[in-house]
Amino acid sequence: MRAQIQHSFKHTIQMAGNRTFTMIKPDAVRAGNIGNILQMINAAGFRIVAMKLTKLSAEKAGEFYAVHRERPFYGELVEFMSSGPIVAAILEKDNAVEDFRTLIGATNPANAAPGTIRAKYATSVGENAVHGSDSDENAAIEGAFHFGGVEMF
Ligand code: UDP
Ligand code: MG
Repeated sequence: MRAQIQHSFKHTIQMAGNRTFTMIKPDAVRAGNIGNILQMINAAGFRIVAMKLTKLSAEKAGEFYAVHRERPFYGELVEFMSSGPIVAAILEKDNAVEDFRTLIGATNPANAAPGTIRAKYATSVGENAVHGSDSDENAAIEGAFHFGGVEMF
């Protein structure tokens, strides 16, 4: 038993830095793009560590985006992110955070590189189809916000 615990702890440490957190946002779920987006994530070489269809309450969406509390778009963002189901997932790959930001493209789809998830599926700077963590530290915090240890594989 002790050996097993030590093994999984070591595994967690070795994987640090190779995980990111994503949400397929309510606009993309409503538009029927869950499958298309997951296909792009798989094709780009990410392994799914954890995943679920869920819905954020306004309170939980406000908490998740608390760093943007003072920004003018915060109210709209919280309303949008709690407007319908999302797919939350933890993804694993070498250089996961940066490579996933490259795969999704710029926040505003008007500036997103061709072929990126946001270029293909986002409709506006607010309703931009997917979330991607911006650092290893935030990836760990955001993953733990949505998933318990027994839901990660
Ligand atoms: N957002 C918005 N208006 C803006 C900037 C951002 O509605 O001018 C929303 C958008 O949904 C974005 C989220 O707030 O994805 C978080 O903003 P951030 O700057 O962190 O962009 P991201 O990291 O998602 O690219
Ligand atoms: Mg961000």
